[in-house]
Amino acid sequence: MENKLEKIVSLAKRRGFVYQSSEIYGGLAGVWDYGPLGVLLKNNIKNSWWKKFVLNREDVFGLDAAILMNPKVWEASGHAAGFSDPLVECKKCHKRFRADKIKEENKFGDGKCPECGGELTEEKQFNMMFKTFIGAVEGTASRIYLRPETAQGIFVNFKNVVDSMHPKLPFGIAQIGKSFRNEITPGDFLFRVREFEQMEVEYFIKPPKNDEEWQTVFEHWRSEIHSWLESIGIAAENLSDFEVPKDDLAHYSKRTIDVFYKYPFGDDEVVGLAYRTDFDLKNHKLDYYDEESKERFVPHTIEPSFGVDRPLLAVLCEAYTEDEMSGETRVFLKFKPEIAPIKAAVFPLLKNKPELVAKAREVYEMIKKEIQPVVFDDNGNIGKRYRRQDEIGTPYCVTVDFDTLEDNTVTLRDRDTGEQERVKIEELISRLKI
Ligand SMILES: [Zn+2]
Repeated sequence: MENKLEKIVSLAKRRGFVYQSSEIYGGLAGVWDYGPLGVLLKNNIKNSWWKKFVLNREDVFGLDAAILMNPKVWEASGHAAGFSDPLVECKKCHKRFRADKIKEENKFGDGKCPECGGELTEEKQFNMMFKTFIGAVEGTASRIYLRPETAQGIFVNFKNVVDSMHPKLPFGIAQIGKSFRNEITPGDFLFRVREFEQMEVEYFIKPPKNDEEWQTVFEHWRSEIHSWLESIGIAAENLSDFEVPKDDLAHYSKRTIDVFYKYPFGDDEVVGLAYRTDFDLKNHKLDYYDEESKERFVPHTIEPSFGVDRPLLAVLCEAYTEDEMSGETRVFLKFKPEIAPIKAAVFPLLKNKPELVAKAREVYEMIKKEIQPVVFDDNGNIGKRYRRQDEIGTPYCVTVDFDTLEDNTVTLRDRDTGEQERVKIEELISRLKI
């Protein structure tokens, strides 16, 4: 199955989805660039998420906080101190261990991962945050960080949003944005990267009086996560919930579920859901005044935390399909039409017949007014044009031929079945079910 990932990486590059960063200079490990089709796919995924979790809800507010923040944020959140121990990382399972701890009693022996027996990296004084300097002077006083998560941008704006929007609990603040982590061992294509994008909601609730009160909210978000993943085309049977064991929970979390996807390299995280208690707002000394009860308290937080790149990788893996068509092996991306980067392609049957080209242009312009993006292609024979669109996951191809000039019908071809039918031009828009 590793082979499948290689095929996807190769198709992604060949067809303009994902390129290695700074490739002409030998690349930069753990960093990727999205090409013309990749950026369309990525925007579709982000828009679908924003629509479901912000626009369609009355209780979630959007935010776009800056990447650069006052370094005191990272002291309060625990990020600045949290990673200052010498660490080693397992090259196989990517777990990190304090170098002094693993020597104590390791059943796999020195230099091996205590969890899986994998090989360990060299010992390093390690902080996952990228450092840089603000202003002209480089020194400790001017040192700042690229944010390692979008969550803190939400927490530090909690008071601003409360003061300007006057929301009643429970409510959430959502953000999509870049984050940076200096991973020791990046790998598996878009899975473990150093620069990535996150989509996070911090959902604030009253301090729960019992477990049931927070568990109900937690279950709501668990089901919303699954319903969104399925809506972008990830099959339910390829998803599973992994309950993070009590001993492995982050210090702030009372419960965490990692939603796993069956990637070609194994089951691994696509989305995380954590009950962070009042840890974050308390650290930032923030609270909430409840008008009804006239009480002041620190709300608790339930956090559904999505990457953009991991769901996108899952969508690519899920869509990648090989079948046989007209006696040939065909590779196609079976994207849901809503997520597909290109919605339809319009072809004149022949490139050298001006009347066909003119009519095809007319059809193309008509569709483009309603549905975007649509491409126009007159290059090569029709079979080749179909293959090109299949490979980038375009759900529909529309061909204008000599009959079109007579009866105003076109050939509509379905990507998944390859079936073709004659459709009246005026019915085209309603037939492109997007
Ligand atoms: Zn390991």
